[in-house]
Amino acid sequence: MHKKLFIPGPTEVLEDVLEKLTTPQIGHRTKEFSELFSSVVSKLKKLLFTENNVILSTSSGSGLMEAAVRNFIKRKALSTHCGAFSERWGKIAQSNGKEIDTIQVDWGKHIPTEEIDKALATGKYDTLLYTHNETSTGVMNPISEVTEIMKKYPEVVWCVDAVSSMCGYMFKVDELGVDFILASSQKSFALPSGFAIATVSEKAIERAKTVENRGFYFDIMVFLKYIDRNQTPTTPAIPHLFALNYQLDKILAEGMENRQNRLQQMAEYTRNWVRKYFALFAESGYESLTLTAITNTRGISVADLNKELANVGKMISNGYGKLKEKSFRIAHMGDLTLDDIKELLNDIEKILGL
Ligand SMILES: *Cc1c(COP(=O)(O)O)cnc(C)c1O
Repeated sequence: MHKKLFIPGPTEVLEDVLEKLTTPQIGHRTKEFSELFSSVVSKLKKLLFTENNVILSTSSGSGLMEAAVRNFIKRKALSTHCGAFSERWGKIAQSNGKEIDTIQVDWGKHIPTEEIDKALATGKYDTLLYTHNETSTGVMNPISEVTEIMKKYPEVVWCVDAVSSMCGYMFKVDELGVDFILASSQKSFALPSGFAIATVSEKAIERAKTVENRGFYFDIMVFLKYIDRNQTPTTPAIPHLFALNYQLDKILAEGMENRQNRLQQMAEYTRNWVRKYFALFAESGYESLTLTAITNTRGISVADLNKELANVGKMISNGYGKLKEKSFRIAHMGDLTLDDIKELLNDIEKILGL
């Protein structure tokens, strides 16, 4: 039996979207391809409220996390850590030979904007790495506050990991002033895994030009050379582009505001349920829009719960890394509906005898 995915990636993909992956292949240096590419790019610009260049990468989101550190860090980056994925970005920077300093908060807490302000005021950093939605802890960081302080630091390239929030949270990229924002296909875009998306500002491009050893596969300057022809430097995942083009039509028809509202309803319903039976893992006021992390206050076996859920065709996520069994996570992103969430929580109540 297929298990409907309530995990924070990969998320459930609707049948009609899946079907688009089997569209007959076309050559990646043809006119048809350029039309497909330009259609995807213009829809993404609309979705993200941006005039910035769009990067379409055949990789998972981590590839573009690596792109950020290789293209933009020249001197030193400030890496803000509040869970497994943000900490990994710092490690990606270091393993590429880049220097970082970190702001570290306990898992479940948000990154205080005033700490970023204080650190950037030292003038030591040319890049800020900021994770909008920390999927390991269910924390959503207050990105619009950061916009305000970044106005004071025009020399800093601001990179945002929006892997699990883009296409759920309504990003107005140009208004936010984010220089590089990246996401994967398998989270709130509700597409299969294997593809990633970013937008890059003029300021970030100017920086990249001055950074050495950007590599090849994730060199933003190489991507830009091909963008003028509506192509990618290397053979892309063409099936994903067909599916993305189709899915973007559906998303734009729903409207980003409606999409965000649908997720908000699911998030609130889930949180209320959690407050009744368990406890929220994320600090109050910073709970994620796209997933809820739950503290396992009842000491249930999350692994056993998932085995039982499999029998009714559903799957949730255990806690991430060190939080395994101490917490668990329910995603409410992508194309899931409030009815899906109600059914899931109802099943969990029955299984646990709540
Ligand atoms: C899933 C996730 C990643 C990793 O993305 P991949 O597509 O698996 O490489 C990075 N950051 C966050 C916040 C995520 O949720």
